[in-house]
Amino acid sequence: AQQALDSSARQKELNAFVQQDAALTLAQADAADALIAQGKAGPLTGIPIAHKDLFVTKDWQTTACSKMLEGYVSPFDATVVTKLQAAGAVSLGKLNCDEFAMGSRNESSVFGPVRNPWDHSMVPGGSSGGSAAVVAAGLVAGATATDTGGSIRQPAALCGVSGIKPTYGTISRFGIIAYGSSLDQAGPIARNARDLLDLLEAMCGFDPQDATSLEFCDDQPNNGARIRQQFEQQQAQQEAQGSQPLKGLRIGVPAQFFGPGLDPVVADAIEAALKTYESLGAERVTVQLPLTELSVPTYYVISPAEASTNLSRFDGVRFGHRASQYTDLNSMISRSRSEGFGPEVVRRILVGTYVLSHGYYDAYYLQAQRVRRMIVDDFQKVFEQCDLILGPVTPALGRKLGANIEDPTTDWLGDVYTLGVSLAGLPAMSIPCGFSKDERPLPIGLQIIGNYFREGQLLAFADRFQ
Ligand code: GLN
Repeated sequence: AQQALDSSARQKELNAFVQQDAALTLAQADAADALIAQGKAGPLTGIPIAHKDLFVTKDWQTTACSKMLEGYVSPFDATVVTKLQAAGAVSLGKLNCDEFAMGSRNESSVFGPVRNPWDHSMVPGGSSGGSAAVVAAGLVAGATATDTGGSIRQPAALCGVSGIKPTYGTISRFGIIAYGSSLDQAGPIARNARDLLDLLEAMCGFDPQDATSLEFCDDQPNNGARIRQQFEQQQAQQEAQGSQPLKGLRIGVPAQFFGPGLDPVVADAIEAALKTYESLGAERVTVQLPLTELSVPTYYVISPAEASTNLSRFDGVRFGHRASQYTDLNSMISRSRSEGFGPEVVRRILVGTYVLSHGYYDAYYLQAQRVRRMIVDDFQKVFEQCDLILGPVTPALGRKLGANIEDPTTDWLGDVYTLGVSLAGLPAMSIPCGFSKDERPLPIGLQIIGNYFREGQLLAFADRFQ
């Protein structure tokens, strides 16, 4: 643990950690040693990890990387934090992310941007930029992250690491600072599918403290054993098929994922991955997800609507920053909120309040909910024709730090391949599948999407490539 702390200190310029505390980390390492001594060690015992600063922790501050929560300490740990600690994982600290997980570049954090370990002039992606960067830099074996519209998959892709967002409801949201509650889902970022499996196994499970937590997945209990068993079954089946391990597997390739907006460098890397899977026996099927483009406005109505209600609790009374000067209660609340929230968060609250307001609700919010339902149905139609869907995670390579900061819509459009999955609550992952041909090559991610509760299948499929 001390060595891991030292190496993270040597990588200060990444700006990935927002809080470290050697005494807390070493105490967790001692607890892991005790587990080992008692013969109770599991695959994560003693393994260095770190948490996105969106997971509340009772021993460390939790800020969601916002001025609004400066100095906030939660009275309890998020369920995911408790579970990983019980498994013996050792936390090296809290990780930088976009403010309240809103963003795609990790540049909206009050702590400043995270640098991409592959090229320090580039963004790591977001919102879980810190989580992807510490894994890519080899500072931890795994990190927790959350994905509301792509925040696990997109930074994993841009940092050349792997990440999985399981089916909505698989991992408890208890103690995760809420952004869009019907979309938020936690997951791990790690080097490869096998590490993801160990982390996911420890993180998932029914939690009565989360009203949307699933008790059963496909009639089986929602737990890590279910996912591991599916992974092992899939692997056994692949082994049994010798040189054509993926024979019989149909890979859906959505036509809409390969339109003119896709950078040819990314397209080539995805095509090469598809060829590799075909050489292993898989069959390629072209499928249709006609609402792909509409997923962007749909998501950017629904997620701000939910964010505007979730963030109403930060009023300077119960939580968060309180303005020092005000005249009455209303001015105290509005001043505290204006001072505490950054520009991207304010933008989302304004959009969300607008689409939920009387007279606009039907035109925007209800309409978006209808499109969401159609997107859900489209995916189910596609899964009648294939077992897994493959495509890019992002339309382009990562961006330079500081570029285009004034223009949020470019970022919003860049989420086009990840949002549909989030709206449908499906499991999906990103694995590295190649590099750009730049002087300093940048990683490219491959997105693998499965039907509900197929996490074990996704991981076994990813493991073939790694
Ligand atoms: N980029 C998307 C957004 O800003 C996704 C964020 C996320 O998944 N947390 O909302």
